[in-house]
Order: sequence, then C-alpha cells, then structure tokens
Amino acid sequence: EICEPLAVLGADVEVPLASGEKVGYAALDYAASAPALKRVWDDVAAYAPYYGSVHRGAGYLSQLSTDLFEQSRRTVAEFLDLRDGDQVVFTRATTDSLNLLAGAVPAGTEVFAFETEHHASLLPWRREGLAVRYLRAPRSHAEAVAALEEALLGASEGPKLFCVTGASNVTGELWPVKELTEVAHRYGARVVLDAAQLAPHHRVSVRESGVDWVAFSGHKLYAPFGAGVLAGRSDWLDAAEPYLAGGGASRTVARELDGSVAVEWHTGPARHEAGSPNVIGAYAIASACRALDEAGFEELEARERALVAKLTEGLAGIPEVRVLNLFGEGSDRVGVVSFVVRGWNSSHFSAALSAEYGIGVRDGLFCAHPLVRTLLGGEPGAAPHQEAVCGAPESSLPGERSLNAIRVSFGAGTPVEHLDRF
Ligand code: PMP
Repeated sequence: EICEPLAVLGADVEVPLASGEKVGYAALDYAASAPALKRVWDDVAAYAPYYGSVHRGAGYLSQLSTDLFEQSRRTVAEFLDLRDGDQVVFTRATTDSLNLLAGAVPAGTEVFAFETEHHASLLPWRREGLAVRYLRAPRSHAEAVAALEEALLGASEGPKLFCVTGASNVTGELWPVKELTEVAHRYGARVVLDAAQLAPHHRVSVRESGVDWVAFSGHKLYAPFGAGVLAGRSDWLDAAEPYLAGGGASRTVARELDGSVAVEWHTGPARHEAGSPNVIGAYAIASACRALDEAGFEELEARERALVAKLTEGLAGIPEVRVLNLFGEGSDRVGVVSFVVRGWNSSHFSAALSAEYGIGVRDGLFCAHPLVRTLLGGEPGAAPHQEAVCGAPESSLPGERSLNAIRVSFGAGTPVEHLDRF
C-alpha cells in the first residue's frame, strides 16, 4: 500500500519494449531524479493562476507570491529543524548550493572531504584561496571517524570545513554524520552535509545532527527540477560576497562623485538570491516537505527498509552479481543499490533492462568516479579511464573487470511489482 501523500506521478506511464509490446514503466532511478509527488503537482497547479513576481511588485498577486515564497522558506526551515539564526537560501540544486558555500567560506579555509564524495561535494572546494584535503576511502564508520580526527589533528589554526554526504548515491550507505560532526567541531571545523540522497529517505535534523549547513535538491525530493536548498549558519554567508551580483541582492546602489558605483548588499538569503527567484521551484519543495511530514518518515522508512531487504536478498542469491558496499554487506542504506554482473557489460545490461522489461536504472560511474573505481577494485584516480565523462557509458568486455556499474534506486511510490520484475 502506498499512502496518499507519497503517491507519485508517472505511475501509469507505459513504454514500448523492443518486442513492440507496451509495459508500465518501472522507474528505478530515483537517485538521479525522483518522480514528483502527485500532491506537489496539484499544489503547483493550484498556485499557478496566482503566479506573480516576488519581492518586486506592488500588485496583489505579487504580494501573494512573495508571501508564499517566504512561507516556503519557513516550511523548509521547519522540515530541516534549523536553529534560530540559521537561514534557508533557495538555489538551483545541491551542486549549486555547495558551489555557493565554497564561494562564501573565508579565504584560507582548509576543506576536508573523503574521496568517496559525489563530484558535487568533492570538487567545488578546488578554488583559489582554499586548501582542500582529500581523505582516503574508509572501510567502516569507525575508520571514517578516525581518519577525520587524524586529518584535523594536523590541520592549521585557521577556519576549517568538512564536507560529508549523508547517504551515498552509489551504495546508498549511510554515513555517521553525527559522530563525524562531533569530531569536526571538537577541532573547530564546521560541517556541511550533502543531503541530496539522505533527505528524500530520512528525516534530516540540523539541530540534532549538529551540522552547520545542509544542501539538497528538489528534483530528488519528489519536486520538479530547477530548485534546491542551502540552509544553515548565517555568519559566513552574510559576510561573503554575493553568489550572484544583481538586483535583489543589493540593498542600495549609488553613483559616487568619482564616477564609481557603491553597493550595499543585503544580509540574509536575499544576498545570495540575486535575480528573479524560482518561486514555483521553492513552492514545490515546500509542498514536498509538507507531504513527507504528513506521511511521516516512519512510514517511508519502514516501507523502504522492506524493499531494500527484498532487493539485497534477491541479489545475494545470484552468484554472478556483486553488490558494491563500502562499509560491508548489510550496512544500513537507503533505497540505492549498485552492483555488477559477471560476464556482462553494465551498459548493455541496463539497456536490456529498459528494452526488454521497461525498467529504468542507471549505469556508469555515477559522478563519483574515485568511489566507484575503489569499489570495482581499481586504484582510485589511477583507473585507465581518466577521461570518462560523468554519466557516459564505459565499455567492459565479458569476463573482464567491470569498469562501470548498474544502480537501482527507489523511494516513495515505488510499487513492490517494480522490484519483483527487476
Ligand atoms: N550529491 C549527491 C550525493 C548526489 O547524489 C547528487 C546528484 N546525483 C548531487 C550531490 C548533485 O545534485 P544535483 O545534480 O541535483 O545538483
């Protein structure tokens, strides 16, 4: 049974098979983009006739839109259980959120991240003025905590930031965010949580986990594309140069006597939201947050736990299949499972799932090349396919070591039938 707030769009979409028959589409690629909740779509459709400019118009609909936009911000703040003084900045997605933060950290900040991160949390720190330290892939939660502590012991006195994912987009495994945050804070480092894969599956409480910032994407949280969130402490964000320079971020702009232009920037979310914001996107995210809260994460988690068990038990019974785990078999995970099939090229296998069964999965290196290469048994970074483009299929011949993997991922609204078929 799928409870009403968690019903998704696209459940009745049929797709053609190679045979010419049609079959109900089994969307098993939620980790890339989840289908939108029906509830979210209905909310957006109900709001659409009242659409108006935000923070820019005197008319009734502009005022209404401004109210709904700011109410959406408060809904997200509640959803994330933010602390007093924290702020919610609407962005385009997780990648955008982490790049925004990377531009806002004080110059000279030392940034720590495990090499197992998604590229969105691995790469934004490689910029002038920041020193980034990549930590080797840990093989257990305890090893991760110890590795972070060791790295921080050798860190400088200056500002420090640790970036960690909550749930891996490759293995689905949960990371020990609270323990890592405690260690980071003990050494004066701040923490940003990449919750792109965590937030759609588990409650994220900023207050409880202690993280300083959290980032996630609307399109993975059952809302449409184009909007995301960076939420957390205000001090570094308020002191930073605006992410984009333009209207909305500037409080006053004046021509000086010498011909230059002086700008006073806003503090608060407006500082990093220059230009006309994605009101529909923010409203859709807030609607998804409300639906998830209404259904209750307990409901979502219990259902998903059963589906994960069904899938991993089923895969364990197929000798040719190797499931990829960083922290060992049976580690706690969300509805994301990657694997390779002996004798099969992962791209061909995924194409066959689509063409012969109407099942949509993903194959590749999942924008986490060092992690996937480690899991496949290669040296991270030393693999032969350095030129691999994120998402592009790589070839592997039957019997050879796989060079890419297959990922199945699911969540709200996934019927058991999809996994049975798979
Ligand atoms: N972090 C993780 C863990 C992800 O899975 C993804 C998306 N695959 C991102 C960041 C980037 O999200 P987006 O593409 O929405 O910016």
